[in-house]
Amino acid sequence: MRTKIVAGNWKMNMKWVDAKSLLLGINQYVNTHKPNCEVIVCPPYPYLDNATEILSGKVQVGSQNISEYEKGAYTGEISAEILNSFDVSYAIVGHSERRSIFKESNEQIGEKVKTAIKNNINTIICCGETLEERQSDNHKKIVKEQLEAALADVSDKDIANQVIAYEPVWAIGTGETASPAQAQEMHQFIRREILESKYGNDLSDKVRILYGGSVKPGNAEELFSKPDIDGGLIGGASLKEDDFASIINAASRTQ
Ligand code: PEP
Repeated sequence: MRTKIVAGNWKMNMKWVDAKSLLLGINQYVNTHKPNCEVIVCPPYPYLDNATEILSGKVQVGSQNISEYEKGAYTGEISAEILNSFDVSYAIVGHSERRSIFKESNEQIGEKVKTAIKNNINTIICCGETLEERQSDNHKKIVKEQLEAALADVSDKDIANQVIAYEPVWAIGTGETASPAQAQEMHQFIRREILESKYGNDLSDKVRILYGGSVKPGNAEELFSKPDIDGGLIGGASLKEDDFASIINAASRTQ
């Protein structure tokens, strides 16, 4: 059985005073309710060190990005080795905002995944189509291309520790959510066709595939009840303690 994951992507939000209070609140919620799922928080880079201390191990800490380079003269970049030295367990790689605003290519994302794994950081690999790509019936082709490039150097040994997040671009931050049936269809395609053709049936069954795109307390349970949806990558709702707690609770109930 796959343990569900709820991961919060804070993006470029919150001053430290508010971030600290949210971290303390999440920590208290998780320690009190002991949910039956994994919880990951991905705050901005400067908060990672404090986050690993405040969250005392029950909630894992992830970064929102990672450099594809190992070390050296790459001003402004943060390497996997640096993140690992702060007990960061996960890195979000290939978020649609990184792809569209910062022009990250499929190949670059593959390099980031490779470097992260080499330095013992597990990846949350994002994929997803634009509205235009869905309307022209190219959504599966696009997701396949994105994932094949991202997983190009991921071996059988490492795949089960990586997490995939299907995030249709048209659903991110828009209030628009893929229907549970639409999300399940894509998750099943990712597991049974993309992962299975490379890693076989048993390993594909072990990979957690999260849904992301306007997940909120009111729709989380229905989405997480689908057989191939193993939790969520949460943007906006991860900034509100009560909403995030309620989504964690939905993942725990549907485990
Ligand atoms: C995201 O940015 O990964 C995301 C899913 O955002 P939101 O939940 O706000 O749509």
